[in-house]
Amino acid sequence: MKQVVSFDDVLAEIAVLVRPHFGKGRTAQYIPQLAAVDPNQFGMAICTVKGDEYAVGDADVPFSAQSITKLFALGLALNRIGDEVWTRVGKEPSGTPFNYLSQLEHEEGIPRNPFINAGALAVTDILLNITREPDALVRDFMGLLGVANLTIDEEVAVSELETAHKNRAIANLMRSFGTITHDAEAVVEAYCRQCAVTVTCRQLARAALPLAARGFSPLIEETIFPERLTRRLNALLLTCGTYDSVGSFAYRVGLPSKSGVGGGLVAVIPDHATVAVWAPELDRFGTSVVGAYALEHFSQLTNCSVL
Ligand code: GLU
Repeated sequence: MKQVVSFDDVLAEIAVLVRPHFGKGRTAQYIPQLAAVDPNQFGMAICTVKGDEYAVGDADVPFSAQSITKLFALGLALNRIGDEVWTRVGKEPSGTPFNYLSQLEHEEGIPRNPFINAGALAVTDILLNITREPDALVRDFMGLLGVANLTIDEEVAVSELETAHKNRAIANLMRSFGTITHDAEAVVEAYCRQCAVTVTCRQLARAALPLAARGFSPLIEETIFPERLTRRLNALLLTCGTYDSVGSFAYRVGLPSKSGVGGGLVAVIPDHATVAVWAPELDRFGTSVVGAYALEHFSQLTNCSVL
C-alpha cells in the first residue's frame, strides 16, 4: 500500500474527474425526503491514522447516513454480545437487493448478512436488549467516534417510516421465525430512526477511523474494537458492504466499503486512512454513482487498495 501523491491534489483531481458522472443516477425515490435532496452535491474527506484530514467540495454538508449506520450498529452488537450475533445473522453476500424478501423465507428467517435490511433489523433487535433507544445509541457512538454531536433527522425518519412497508414485511417475517424477538413495529421504528442519523463526510471518515487503525481511535485515543474484530468488520464490508454489486465494486475500488441510500460511501484503507464520499444520485443497487467513481479514481490515483 503506497501513497506517493498528496491527498490534497488527489481530492482536487477527483472533484474534476467525477463531473461527467452527475445525472447518471437518481436520488432514493422510495423515501420522499431523500428523493427531494439536491442531486448536484459532492463532498469527499480523508482521515489518516495519524489524524491528518483532507477534504473537498461539500465535505461539511450533513447528509442522511442510512445504511452506513449498520456498520456502527453491528460494531456495537459485536462488542456487546460477541459471536452470539452470528446465531441470528449470517456472513455471506446475499446476491439480492438490500430489501429482498423471498430469500429470507427460504432461509427460515436468518438474514444472509448484517448489512442487508433483514440483517440490520436483527442487529437492532439485539440492541433492543441493551437499550430502549438503539437509534440514539448508534447516533451517539458515531458522534463519539466522529467527534461531533450528531442528530437524527426527524423528517427523514418519519418519511421512511410512512413508506417502510417492505421493512415491516421483513421484520414480521423474521418475528414469525423467532429471529426477531421484540415487537416488529418497534424494531422497524428504531431501525428507520437509526438510518436517519445525519453526518458529514468529514465526521464519517473520522468515525470509521478505528477500522483503519486496528480498532483504535487516534482521535479520542481509545480502543473501540479488538484488533481481530476490526479485521472481521473489514472482511464483512468487502464482501457484503455494497449489496448485490459488491463483486463489481470490489473489482473497481478494492477497499472495504459501506454505502447508504443517502448517497454516502465510506471506505477503509487498513493501517492508513478512511475515505468518505457523498453524492446523492444512486445506481440501481442503491450505491452512489458519483461516489463509486470517486473511490475508483481514488484507489487508482493513490494505489491504495487491499487487493
Ligand atoms: N433506510 C434504508 C432502507 O431501509 C437503508 C437502505 C440503504 O441505505 O441502503 O431501505
